[in-house]
Amino acid sequence: MILPPDASTQNIRTGMERVILQGLDLNNIHKSFGEKKVLAGVSFEVRHGEILALLGPSGCGKSTLLSIIAGLLEADSGQVIWNSSSLENVPPYQRRFGLMFQDLALFPHLSVEKNIAFGLEMDGWGETGIENRVQEMLELINLPAEKIRDVSTLSGGEKQRIALARTLAPMPELLMLDEPLGATDRTLREALLLDLRLILEKLDQTVIYVTHDQEEAFAIADRVVILEAGNIRQIGTPREVYQHPSSTFVARFLGLHNLFKAEPSAQHIIHTDLGEIPFPSGLKKPAVVLLRPDSVQTGTTGPVTLEGELTACSFRGSICRTTIRINKQTLLFDFPISTDLPDPGNRIQISFNPSTALQVFYED
Ligand code: ADP
Ligand code: MG
Repeated sequence: MILPPDASTQNIRTGMERVILQGLDLNNIHKSFGEKKVLAGVSFEVRHGEILALLGPSGCGKSTLLSIIAGLLEADSGQVIWNSSSLENVPPYQRRFGLMFQDLALFPHLSVEKNIAFGLEMDGWGETGIENRVQEMLELINLPAEKIRDVSTLSGGEKQRIALARTLAPMPELLMLDEPLGATDRTLREALLLDLRLILEKLDQTVIYVTHDQEEAFAIADRVVILEAGNIRQIGTPREVYQHPSSTFVARFLGLHNLFKAEPSAQHIIHTDLGEIPFPSGLKKPAVVLLRPDSVQTGTTGPVTLEGELTACSFRGSICRTTIRINKQTLLFDFPISTDLPDPGNRIQISFNPSTALQVFYED
């Protein structure tokens, strides 16, 4: 599965033309540990300059895949191809890939500069070269001179940036970040994500960003690969996968929880746990239907109105997370805080356009 020239010669973010075929191409990677199948035929491409997020729940095989790409672990079968050449028999240090682990793995007994210089010394950079490159990296991560202290006294965010600088210093052709923000709190995480995205864009760096957090993946990635139990479930831009999840697994994983059973009733009507709903395109057979939370409003202005009981409302800053019980189904919606909502325990009406708000999944 080599990239066709027209697909790979363009940097998808900048639109800049590239002359050579560049990027990573994973072809049908399988890996088991004993009886346990961890990767079941994984194939995707990462184009030059692209930030690709590998997104999936804990234990789905993300770190295993990174180890295989880095050459630290051998696949049972399948190929890792870089710039059109197979990496079989190419040892990790010759791949020129950088892998940053979740625990950051900084050396606590070394200074910040020594930490950043680590890979450069391994690669045999000269003294002046190292000094200049370390300086460049410190500027890149925007760490002021007065902050350059003992590694153990730095904050979580500073450690994260230094680990990034250390991984970037030897100019890896592919940067792999394994849950780099795993341990930081939400506010810091958002700031770090923005910083990280700006740094990576400035460098035109090719990146695989591993995370189990959908918001993180959406914020940073040009494209997202969704992995479940060693199988790819969907590949697309954040917008594509959020607007058209390919399965109920993907929908749930992306936080789209309003899924309910439906079956054909009369023509253009479906029978659901919420009641009879007009549905212009109809259903071919019993299905699971997603009611998209972003396409529902309170009141009766849409073509279809449903009534239920507002069971809870929790304040989340700019939105109110609301649960509404309709028949035996509980639905979840995030309404803007400005929405006029009744108190919990009272009736509420919601309305939507079924053509855009309902999405059908035919699954066994
Ligand atoms: P993720 O990074 O998505 O959380 P991993 O790739 O770390 O998942 O692990 C996937 C599965 O493989 C898990 O069930 C894990 O326990 C198992 N696993 C990972 N490494 C090994 C190993 N060296 N030996 C045996 N099982 C492993
Ligand atoms: Mg992992």
